[in-house]
Amino acid sequence: MHHIKLRIAAMIVWGSLIFLSLNAKAQLHAPASVAAEAQIAFDHFPELKNVPVTIRVKHSYCTGKTRPTFISCFLPRNKRSYVITISDHTIDTLTPLLFENLPEPARIGLIGHEISHVADFVQQSTAKSWATAAGHLSRHYMDSLEYHTDLICIRHGLGANLEAWSSYIRATMHTRYWRGADFVIKGDDHYERYMNPDTIESYMTP
Ligand SMILES: [Zn+2]
Repeated sequence: MHHIKLRIAAMIVWGSLIFLSLNAKAQLHAPASVAAEAQIAFDHFPELKNVPVTIRVKHSYCTGKTRPTFISCFLPRNKRSYVITISDHTIDTLTPLLFENLPEPARIGLIGHEISHVADFVQQSTAKSWATAAGHLSRHYMDSLEYHTDLICIRHGLGANLEAWSSYIRATMHTRYWRGADFVIKGDDHYERYMNPDTIESYMTP
């Protein structure tokens, strides 16, 4: 009886050690439904290896979004952590753009774009991260922010995936330009907020 208790105690200690060591290494936390694609995309961002990033999958109007955690807005750059939300339910019009309905390369492109936001956020001053997190930014600023985010994604070697995503969106939504979910109802198609496939290609060719 006594040595069974000891064995159980030893197992608990070992279990905790393994859990702690795994946790110390893993900075990317993602549910199984997005984990494979998230890891592929994340591996292209070696500078984020020690940055805590959590991916949540839940009902959300936008197919993907990224922000620093609330507490991070009060912390210095090297202490911040980030949350990427991937939607599993939205309005009918946007449903074909949900992660689960995308072809595999486009899924990696979508997550690559969101991780590019993290790569951008980690460089930002506290004041700017407040503004971004609060979303109090002009349309024009958002246009350049998203365009710049796509560029970060391409520069990390995910251009082909981003292009797969960009082409899929345009083919599915029957539009030449894509300014995001917020503009679906307003029908604005004159701004290249997210890069068009040919623009992505132009940045990929050396
Ligand atoms: Zn974005």
